[in-house]
Amino acid sequence: MAIAENLERIRQEINALDAQNRVQLLAVSKTFPESSLEEAIAGGQRLFGENYAQEGVRKIQYFREHYPNLGLQWHFIGPVQSNKTKLIAEHFDWVQSVDRLKIAQRLSEQRPQARGPLNVLLEVNVDGEDTKSGVDVPSVGEMLEQIARMPNLRLRGLMCIPRPAENAEQRRKPFKIMKALFDQYQAPYGLDTLSMGMSADYREAIEEGANMVRIGSAIFGARHYASK
Ligand SMILES: *Cc1c(COP(=O)(O)O)cnc(C)c1O
Repeated sequence: MAIAENLERIRQEINALDAQNRVQLLAVSKTFPESSLEEAIAGGQRLFGENYAQEGVRKIQYFREHYPNLGLQWHFIGPVQSNKTKLIAEHFDWVQSVDRLKIAQRLSEQRPQARGPLNVLLEVNVDGEDTKSGVDVPSVGEMLEQIARMPNLRLRGLMCIPRPAENAEQRRKPFKIMKALFDQYQAPYGLDTLSMGMSADYREAIEEGANMVRIGSAIFGARHYASK
């Protein structure tokens, strides 16, 4: 039960940094089989993040069938392709990686009414890298304004995936920028979620104000993409 032990250790670390008990732990389970998620569930985990639409939906359906009453919450955190929005809107509870209006529009249109609004985060390209997904910092306000108007989406906050940094001081820089954005837009849009920090940098992220961390390999071990 290494997974449950990893979870316990990470929770203790989070609690030590999080006196107000406001940080949520998203277990990033991409590439891992259902059995790994079952171990995490046995260890008390309920929030899961997936990056690939089909793989995620396969797991959602498995757990809906076998564990219908656990209150599991499924977050889509990977790049959203236009031809996958329907699948994602129908099955996931959250999408953290919204970074284009067209994608937001499709998710809103394709969200089944019966499921209630889809929770979304705006992904911010906080390093200003050309190759990365996410909206540029100067466009954040405009994007939030547009997304907030979409009827079947519930805008919850901001998310980022900073590029790997060499030291703790560099790791903190993008988190500080995100926290400032979050503070600026929190009240106007009723935001409650700042999702940042992964296995390598969740401690700094929490210290800088994250209230959701997305942790994969520190819980489940190294990923092997070939066997996906
Ligand atoms: C894979 C992934 C994570 C988890 O990464 P680890 O380094 O394994 O903790 C978090 N967020 C996103 C968006 C990811 O794609």
